[in-house]
Amino acid sequence: MEASFCYCDSPFSLIAAKAPFSRILVLEYYDGLVSGLAECKQCLRVYRFDMVAWEGNAGIRVFTLGSVPTSFLQRAVEEYSRYEAPRWPLWVPFFKAPLPDRVMANVEQEIDRLLTTSVNHPVMVVASATSLESILKAKKITSREFNRIQDWFAFLGLLVHSLPLP
Ligand SMILES: [Zn+2]
Repeated sequence: MEASFCYCDSPFSLIAAKAPFSRILVLEYYDGLVSGLAECKQCLRVYRFDMVAWEGNAGIRVFTLGSVPTSFLQRAVEEYSRYEAPRWPLWVPFFKAPLPDRVMANVEQEIDRLLTTSVNHPVMVVASATSLESILKAKKITSREFNRIQDWFAFLGLLVHSLPLP
């Protein structure tokens, strides 16, 4: 079942779109987004994003985007909603009120189980100033390229120096 064309299919229109994602659920946070799920505002497709490179001064991060079933976002939201009310467009669960370690471990286990049920190679690489609210650069990627890329900024045509991943 292939959805019809959307701006999230094209690097050029993804850059042109203002706030392309209506709901961003952050699963990992380190001075900004590291990984999570993002829902396209227009077609409601859900992407898993993972930071692959970052740069400190301008706060630019490079993420891979891979399509995942929309149910992933639904189930992750349900899981986190048991502890905290969702906040959209950007929800970083437990950012203000962390859960006790033991409870947190259970939640993380649930989420990990959800994400490992489907291995999807990334389809797009994007650069964003920390929060994915606007996309500075975007490029499609094949799994062959994905395995070979060493300098993600260079892949996107950005001349910045990468920091080691947290
Ligand atoms: Zn879309």
